[in-house]
Amino acid sequence: MELKSFIRDIPDFPAKGIIFRDVTPLLKNPAAFQKAIDEMTKILQDMKFDLIVSPEARGFIFGAALAYKLGKGLVPVRKPGKLPYKTVSIEYNLEYGTAQLHMHSDALQQGQRVIIVDDVLATGGTAAAIASLVKNVGGEVAGMCFLIELSYLSPREKLKDYDVRSVLVY
Ligand code: 5GP
Repeated sequence: MELKSFIRDIPDFPAKGIIFRDVTPLLKNPAAFQKAIDEMTKILQDMKFDLIVSPEARGFIFGAALAYKLGKGLVPVRKPGKLPYKTVSIEYNLEYGTAQLHMHSDALQQGQRVIIVDDVLATGGTAAAIASLVKNVGGEVAGMCFLIELSYLSPREKLKDYDVRSVLVY
């Protein structure tokens, strides 16, 4: 089964000139979703880590499935105003303007090793911001894992310090 055949390209979403890689056809196909999680598990096999850290919204889908499969805990990263307890936050640049992400300030213990998981690695800005949050609360980034990497946006230039692994590369 070719996983890429379950990724739908949507031209000009959310803005003109952007091809959005839509993972919903993959999610609704049981065999494709299972294979996606199995492949993400495989590329993490040799990594030693304690927790998975994932951003809303699609990151939760893949992060939660992987956490369950690997027997790890899950730490959510969210947009402002969503997490109920004390948070640390980071502002980062988007193509137009800025965005903010939050994590609970007690989410990690000193030295805990985490894998950052998301559906798509595009410019790398989100993953780099999450890595800063992890370090701000005393954690260590053991690696990053994505279903899809958009290599033509050169995300690895922002992530030179990290072990970045992805299943499907465009
Ligand atoms: P970056 O910060 O790497 O530019 O963007 C990555 C974030 O935006 C991820 O959280 C991802 O879910 C979302 N994203 C960016 N481009 C796409 C895309 O083409 N398809 C999907 N499904 N998500 C995207």
